[in-house]
Amino acid sequence: MESCREEVLQWRVSKNVGLCEPNNGVLPKSVVCAFSSRQGGVSTGAYTSLNLGLHVGDRPDNVVANRRRFASAIGIDLEGWVAGNQVHGKDVAVVGRKDRGRGAFSQDTSLAAVDALVTNEAGVWLTCYCADCVPLIFWDAQGTAVGVAHAGWRGTLAKVGLEVVAKMVGNFGCAPERIHVLIGPAVGSCCYSVSEELARLFEREFGSGPLTNREGQTFLDLKAANREYLVRGGIPPDQIYVSGLCTSCLPGIFFSHRRDKSPTGRMAAVIGLRER
Ligand SMILES: [Zn+2]
Repeated sequence: MESCREEVLQWRVSKNVGLCEPNNGVLPKSVVCAFSSRQGGVSTGAYTSLNLGLHVGDRPDNVVANRRRFASAIGIDLEGWVAGNQVHGKDVAVVGRKDRGRGAFSQDTSLAAVDALVTNEAGVWLTCYCADCVPLIFWDAQGTAVGVAHAGWRGTLAKVGLEVVAKMVGNFGCAPERIHVLIGPAVGSCCYSVSEELARLFEREFGSGPLTNREGQTFLDLKAANREYLVRGGIPPDQIYVSGLCTSCLPGIFFSHRRDKSPTGRMAAVIGLRER
């Protein structure tokens, strides 16, 4: 299985908030996309400092303040954020301007039991929340439709990424060969040791491709597994960009559920279409 290409994301500090954005030229001009870090927020303790997850036990007012900071840093409005109540599933919600703000200020208003969102309407900022799980970001080459998915090992094996592609094709008329995907910062095969049972589930799907053995342990490359499913689903390999950033390797930059245990914070991946 092919390894990561040159890093697709660049680090930037905007209004004191640290974040990662795709390199210049990767996205169509109409598309906004960013990945948050843990730097630049108001949360304390295990959530220090830019925790963007409302569902992990942090003070809600701090999380909303952090979200406002991150939204402002990337030039979007928190009023337009949309979030799903993530359950490690494969369901995708098609959302639009009517859904602006769902899950932005309260977990109760998020879309129930969805790990992925798609839209073709401007000003709808699709989000997902991860601390090791893989954020998948989708856009079509014309810059008229976007998607996001949260893929831990369960979502990966459920092919949540291909469910997003199917929704973009079925609802917006996108062609798979015109869809681009960015696989964001997540726990890497450097740090993700898995049980033999879990390794066997992946081996059944991919052979030994995403698995490596060292020091008596088996390590899984979840990003590579997601990439492989997308290639099998018709996404051109050169339109899949894989971040080499490992959330577990970079404690000053990212939260990591495996490294820090519970409680810890969450980063957000955001994508949307600019309002013109
Ligand atoms: Zn690592």
